[in-house]
Amino acid sequence: MQKIKSGRFGDFGGQYIPETLMTEVNRLAAAYEHYKNDPEFQAELTTLLNEYAGRPSRLYYAKRMSQDLGGAQIYFKREDLNHTGSHKINNVLGQMLLAKKMGKTRVIAETGAGQHGVATATVAALMGIECEVFMGKVDTDRQALNVYRMQLLGAKVHAITTGTGTLKDAVNAAMQEWASRVTDTHYVIGSTMGPHPFPTMVRDFQSVISREARAQILEATGKLPAAVVACVGGGSNAIGAFYNFIDDKDVRLIGCEAAGKGVDTDEQAATMERGSTGIFHGMKSRFIQDGDGQIAPVYSISAGLDYPGIGPEHVHLAEIGRAEYVGITDDEAVDAFEFIAKEEGIICAIESAHAVAYVQKLAPQLAKDQIIICNLSGRGDKDVAAIARYRGVDIHD
Ligand SMILES: *Cc1c(COP(=O)(O)O)cnc(C)c1O
Repeated sequence: MQKIKSGRFGDFGGQYIPETLMTEVNRLAAAYEHYKNDPEFQAELTTLLNEYAGRPSRLYYAKRMSQDLGGAQIYFKREDLNHTGSHKINNVLGQMLLAKKMGKTRVIAETGAGQHGVATATVAALMGIECEVFMGKVDTDRQALNVYRMQLLGAKVHAITTGTGTLKDAVNAAMQEWASRVTDTHYVIGSTMGPHPFPTMVRDFQSVISREARAQILEATGKLPAAVVACVGGGSNAIGAFYNFIDDKDVRLIGCEAAGKGVDTDEQAATMERGSTGIFHGMKSRFIQDGDGQIAPVYSISAGLDYPGIGPEHVHLAEIGRAEYVGITDDEAVDAFEFIAKEEGIICAIESAHAVAYVQKLAPQLAKDQIIICNLSGRGDKDVAAIARYRGVDIHD
């Protein structure tokens, strides 16, 4: 039997899964190890990313915002312009191409707000693969439009009523379903979480963001940025935006977590600041837990950041002092959502607005010849009704 690397980032990561899944997860790790180095696979994936998802995404110089904040020059990496409206498609195309190579005819996925579910249903339609999506009942009610979108794309959506009926329960349900039917089914995990090889594989598929951004900023300015800023839920868009800058020691890497109603309240999802080491969803990482070590309920205005854990590589990067993590409140994110709309004519996802909010704080502290790259993980059409409600405006959604 081929020796499988355990997928550790320092002390974090690993494979904490039931016996029933171990063989399949290791088959996946071996298949990924093989196809990752297969030029034909990489060429096929690049064609899909370019022709279907619309890559490379632009690195856009935000001139007005840079001038008005009066400090660093701000560039946005426009993942919001990808097909289906976020970075999620980068990972989904990679995993589904791999699943096809492994002979799978069916995929399952979990989704919170529905962005990952929509991306998976989209690529399933493209590739002619059967697709079932697990989504908390509370989320299917909150995100009825995305549920209908997935159905339009031919996917079956399961509303999960166990636990709090939200994302973590959808992940539990998807893991159980996978354990009961591994032969024809691949589980498309939507972020840098879960057992090895997922955190590494999803990181690699998302690292196209920083591969492009690094070349684009050097081409545009001849130098590297002072900082790269991205929002963090499970951590996939952030690790994708950081990865190819990790060896550039002078580039600060800054992840923005959801501090909800305040990092000191119980209504937050700031895992780095409020979490502790634990084992959940197949990995050793940081999680927001109660006094008994149970996963605690989390909250954010942004459904995409509303996850009680974070990818293990981020915990390692924080421990070795290579990346920093900051909390951004709902109020700050909504202000930033409106700010970038008025300054740059971009309605970004409320998740991404958490990163924009930190750029508003950081840019004035830096010199005019310094550069910030901010990853815009997604577009904000899905959030407009919720922002209106937040401002007390009824738009009859
Ligand atoms: C899902 C999502 C996120 C959060 O997920 P990460 O894995 O942390 O990137 C952020 N932004 C958008 C637009 C999303 O759809």
